Amino acid sequence: MRVSQLFNKTLKEDPVEAEIISHSLLIRSGMIRKLAPGVFSYLPLGWRVLNKISNIIREEMNRAGCQELMMPIIQPKELWEQSGRWFVYGKELIRLKDRHDREYCLSPTHEEVITTLVKNEIKSYKDLPLNLYQIQNKYRDEVRPRFGLIRSREFLMKDGYSFNRNEESLNKTYEEMYDAYSRVFTRCGLNFRAVEADSGAIGGSSSHEFMVLADTGEASLTYCKSCDYAANMEMATHEKRHYDNGIENKLEKIITPDKKSIEEVSEFLNISPDLMLKTLVYKAIYENNEKLICIVVRGNREVNEIKLKNELKAIDISLADNEEVFKATKTPIGFIGPIGLENVEIFVDEEVMEVNNGATGALIEDYHYIGVNPKRDFPRDCIIGDFHNVDEFDLCPKCSGTLNFKRGTEVGQVFKLGKKYSEKLDCKFLDEKGENQHVTMGCYGIGVGRTMAASVEQNNDERGIIWPKAIAPYHVIIIPVNVKNQDIINIAEELYKNLLKEDIEVILDDTDERAGVKFANADLIGYPIKIVIGSKTLENKTVDFKIRATGEEVIVPLKEALGKIKRILL
Ligand code: ATP
Ligand code: MG
Repeated sequence: MRVSQLFNKTLKEDPVEAEIISHSLLIRSGMIRKLAPGVFSYLPLGWRVLNKISNIIREEMNRAGCQELMMPIIQPKELWEQSGRWFVYGKELIRLKDRHDREYCLSPTHEEVITTLVKNEIKSYKDLPLNLYQIQNKYRDEVRPRFGLIRSREFLMKDGYSFNRNEESLNKTYEEMYDAYSRVFTRCGLNFRAVEADSGAIGGSSSHEFMVLADTGEASLTYCKSCDYAANMEMATHEKRHYDNGIENKLEKIITPDKKSIEEVSEFLNISPDLMLKTLVYKAIYENNEKLICIVVRGNREVNEIKLKNELKAIDISLADNEEVFKATKTPIGFIGPIGLENVEIFVDEEVMEVNNGATGALIEDYHYIGVNPKRDFPRDCIIGDFHNVDEFDLCPKCSGTLNFKRGTEVGQVFKLGKKYSEKLDCKFLDEKGENQHVTMGCYGIGVGRTMAASVEQNNDERGIIWPKAIAPYHVIIIPVNVKNQDIINIAEELYKNLLKEDIEVILDDTDERAGVKFANADLIGYPIKIVIGSKTLENKTVDFKIRATGEEVIVPLKEALGKIKRILL
């Protein structure tokens, strides 16, 4: 390719809407352009990168025995009603009607379609296992599309689905997919962790997310510094500590005038914050109703809303407002507690049950209880579970090592779906005994565009993108510094032809821009190897050979350039 013919314009300024570096660099380097919020065109260089990632995914999927197919993006409402997700998916689902007023959605994912497709094709256990995938645009009307390709509304996804005869077979496929995913992200040059994850709205029993470590990541994760333990915050646990020493004081109600916050009360009562039993009211939202519930955690802990939401099996939960708190507890905020609380479900974090002689609100303005021993004093029908966030003072649940906390961007996820969709959509097969059984399913997604952006997020400097060679749009750029000098042009053209002959992905900057502009553009776009042909080439038959990733800059005899390129790209 020649730069003079390339459909590519670079920009000097950061676009105003870009909050993170990958968004800014992908726009500035002319890889993508926005059409509408969260909707982008991929220009030739960006499309090459995206296709390289897609091809790595294809190679690894095919190697793991998956088969590629392509399904429709437009999907009828009836299928989504059958799976029960027409409502659950809420506003993220883009819905539309045809001329006959029939309702459809633009696919955010394909469980409904593929399960229906497969159920009509398979007969017996001999047709299983099956592992099918596609690479295709997905549509999700995200509340806040942002960060460019990281959270967009139209985005390219690899989605795969496995159909297995039983749990054991699913486990095997799941492991193969887990390994294939690790190979994909390693080949894309990413620093990532596979973390235990919540299986979310898609449902199912077990899941891992592949997280690229990045300060700008939207997810929080923790991993052990000493072993392979890694989990999303909503799944993370820690080594259990035993607090209960069995010494129980008398329960007493005492006046705490105007002391509402944990700090105020703990200071006033001279009780450490971890013995304060914090009670919060949440509103849980369901398909047809909503309810208010209370949750108690130790004062030094934070509620993990996803753990709580899962226990509640709610579509969503949020902290109740003052009015709702009063409605549920008949008590102003600051003095709520579980003792004597009626007509509202109480969820209690497991660590609270270990407290001796704690303090909590007494359900009367300006009063708290002290000498609280939850095992003795809390209502019997409390629901106990792990509802708190892991914190820096916690230790690894596997090896007692120190935990590290990082932010990450999810680029892929593998789920064990079980029979959730096969039962709803009635996808069955005949087993060896001739009995009908629902298939056991798994599903496996990779955000192709998000992977591209995450790579830029990890690989950049003040001059621009530094593409890992596996996904760079071209591997080598040849820059003749002065195109008016025919000798320089001749050498550049010859080297260009020689590289093409060797199937090297090369681009020749044959424009009449100043050398400085050409260098800046090459660095912004992030080609791994830059070869500069200038007066030194004429004088000494050498070229300037620069490696973008390491900043290494060497002078190489012209005739050795090709050999060196081949060695680097190997
Ligand atoms: P998130 O939690 O970030 O919204 P998700 O868990 O809903 O993502 P999945 O349903 O697991 O996403 O989709 C598979 C992959 O698709 C994700 O791992 C991610 O890489 C990508 N993806 C999901 N939503 C988006 C989006 N809005 N823009 C770009 N990529 C996305
Ligand atoms: Mg996910």
